[in-house]
Parts: sequence; C-alpha cells; structure tokens
Amino acid sequence: MLDGSTLKIMLLDDEPIMLNLHARILKNQGFTDVICYESGQAALDGFESANGHPNLILMDLNMPEMDGIEFVRHLVDRKYVGSLILISGEDERMLQATEKLVQAHQIVVLGHLRKPVSPQAVATLLAKWVPATGSKKRAAATMYCADEVRAAIANGELVNYYQPKVEVESGRFVGVETLVRWRHPKVGMIFPDQFIAVAEANDLIDDLTRSVLAAALKQAKEWHNAGLELKVAVNISVDNLASLSFADYVVGLSLDSGVQPRNVILEVTESRLMADLRSPLEILTRLRLKRFKLSIDDFGTGHSSLVQLRDIPFDELKIDRSFVHGVGSDETLQAIFNSSLGLAQQLGMDVVAEGVEDIADWQFLKQSGCKLAQGYFIGRPMPASELPTWINAWKARVLDGF
Ligand code: C2E
Ligand code: CA
Ligand code: CA
Repeated sequence: MLDGSTLKIMLLDDEPIMLNLHARILKNQGFTDVICYESGQAALDGFESANGHPNLILMDLNMPEMDGIEFVRHLVDRKYVGSLILISGEDERMLQATEKLVQAHQIVVLGHLRKPVSPQAVATLLAKWVPATGSKKRAAATMYCADEVRAAIANGELVNYYQPKVEVESGRFVGVETLVRWRHPKVGMIFPDQFIAVAEANDLIDDLTRSVLAAALKQAKEWHNAGLELKVAVNISVDNLASLSFADYVVGLSLDSGVQPRNVILEVTESRLMADLRSPLEILTRLRLKRFKLSIDDFGTGHSSLVQLRDIPFDELKIDRSFVHGVGSDETLQAIFNSSLGLAQQLGMDVVAEGVEDIADWQFLKQSGCKLAQGYFIGRPMPASELPTWINAWKARVLDGF
C-alpha cells in the first residue's frame, strides 16, 4: 500500500484555486509532500533547485505561457524519471492523444483526470503509482544476430505455440494461430519480435516460415486424426512472397501432410510497403485458387490496408488488438471497430477480433456481430500438448457463462 510520505508530488496549474483544491485533495489522502507551481517556468526552476525531482507530477494541460505538452518536452530534457497525471477540461480524445505522446517519451502516465477532479479519481490513479526503475524501464528487446538465428532454425530450436480462435456466438473452438517461439538452450524463451526482423533482413525468413509451416501442418494432421477439425493459421512475411517458389512449397506441403488447403490460413501483414506488388499478388492469388485461406492481419495498422483489401482476395480480416481491447468503453475504438467490421462484412469476409483480453471486450463482441475472437481472455498461445486441458477448461467456462 502506498504511504503518503514516500511520494514527492508536484502540482502545476495556472489557476491558484485549482492548485489549492488539488493540494487539499492530496493532503486529505495523506500526501503531505506537495509543492505547487503556477507556471511551467516556475516548476522548471523548482526542478533545478534544492527541492529536487518529484516522483509524481499532476499537471494541467492548458496553461497560458508554457502549455503542458511543451512542459513535458522540458521534463524529457531534464531526464525526468517519475510519473505523470494529466488534468484538463479537454475532451477524451485530446487527453488520450496527449497521454500517448507523453508515453512515447518514456514517461509513465498514470492516467488523466477531467476537471472538476474528484478525490475518488485521484485515489484510483495514485494507487497505480510504482517507483521508477530508472533507465531499465521497459528493457530494450535484445536483437539476435543472423548467425544465431540461422543456427536456431538449423538446430530445431524454434517451436510452434498455438493460440485458440473461437466463434463468438457459440463459443465453439474452431482454429488456432501458430506463433513461433525460440526455445534458446541458455536464454530460455524468446519471442518473435526479437528475431523475425533479423530473419527477414538476412534471407532467413524463407527457412523460418517453411519450418513453422511444416510443423504446423504436421500438428494439424494429428488434430484432424484425433477428430479435431481445426483451421490452422500461420503468419507469412511479405518477404516470403518475393520468390514464386513459395506457392509451390505450400501446395506440396499440404499434399504431403494430408491437410486440405481450406484448413490452412495464411496471415499476411504489411509491415512495410510492398515495393513490387506483382510477385505477392501472383503467389497469393494462386494459393487462393488452390483454396488456401488468406487473412489480412493487424488490419488498420499497416501502410495501406485498404489498398491491399482492394487488390488481394482475402477471406478473413483480423482487426488489430489496438482497436479491440477496451472497445466497450471507448467511442473512438468503437467507431474504428464497427467500420472495419462493416467493411469486411460487405466484402464477404470473416472477421476475427484480436487481443480480446477481458470479459468487457468479450461482451462487446457478443453484441457486435463479429464472428471470431482470439486473445488472452480466451486462451494464451500454448504448446500443442496443453491444448486438451485448455479445451476442457474453455468448455466449462462457456457453460458457466464465464
Ligand atoms: P500477430 O500475428 O499479431 O500475433 C498476435 C500476437 O499477439 C502474438 O504475439 C500473441 O501472443 C499476442 N496476443 C494474443 N492475444 C493477445 C491479447 O489478448 N493481448 C495482447 N496484448 N497480446 C495478445 P507474439 O507471439 O509475441 O507474436 C508477435 C508477432 O510476431 C505476431 O503478431 C506476428 O506478426 C509475428 N510472428 C509470430 N510468429 C511468426 C511466424 O512464424 N512468422 C512470421 N513471419 N511472423 C511471426
Ligand atoms: Ca497473425
Ligand atoms: Ca495480428
């Protein structure tokens, strides 16, 4: 529990009445070390003085001379490592945008408060405060070198994890997405954002994707033999679509493994601009002709999602998780979610909501008409061996109404 005396708090607002009010709210909650400033400049001077850096700043966004956004820039210059709470009469979208901006500067934003500020809202935000971890904040992802990734592929250190996809209406388990992991003998589990880009940049992505695909189809066949007719999705990099032999490889694999194309979904994201669309277009169209399913991943975040949608015959659209988690209580997300859903439905595509993290997300989906869902609320990515246990647990949750 947070002890009031551990926090050194700075209040910044151009209105003295507000400063007084907010200081009183804090003091009533046991926070005694509170310093007030009426301008950004005065606050910065205080920063330099013997008072030292606060752990937390509550700041008004709209101030006549130096506004809040400008003040944050000065905080960054002064290597401020504490947290921040924004206070403003601006609308929700302005506050959210500012919050994102501040976070991009690596300053922890506990949240924002609308004026008039309520003591309860202050208490809720303050409860989120944790001591700064200094420069270790969000450990920078280690990138592995090409030789290490090459060896990992060759030594079979890559393993497939599978995340369940379910039907929203019935709760029926219909498929999985394959997510690759690197089980490093020394480091332990390494996530794809630490090696996929390395593989792409060093001509290793073809080997990587082929090994992931081969293992996924082998696993799919085992599931089918066991009576589980799952659709298995695999992530394909744009770089895989540069050489025409990729289509033949996928077709061959499907024949060899005995998994029908309609049970294989290829998820494609456009992480950067496709320089030349001819080869990707040819490969994807050929695969579609053979009845493989094509899915447009992370919809809404790419460089030209609508252009891809226009040019490539996708069967499925995955709404990016940044538009899904929290959608029930955010009008902006609802607008984006509903228009993506409507667009996909008009084009006759299936829609998957990614990043369903809690019951509120799930309940929003239930009334939205979205067909499929995936996310931590339903199930985390797991090794194939853990799937039977998850299936039983999921069935029980569906029956119990969660
Ligand atoms: P993605 O295709 O968007 O995959 C979904 C990611 O979201 C996965 O991260 C998954 O663990 C995570 N996730 C799932 N549910 C939730 C949720 O409810 N909340 C949150 N916050 N996250 C959730 P992961 O496994 O770390 O994969 C990251 C990305 O790496 C994937 O994003 C995909 O683009 C790429 N990737 C993974 N496997 C492969 C692969 O075999 N080949 C290629 N080319 N890329 C891959
Ligand atoms: Ca994906
Ligand atoms: Ca995705």
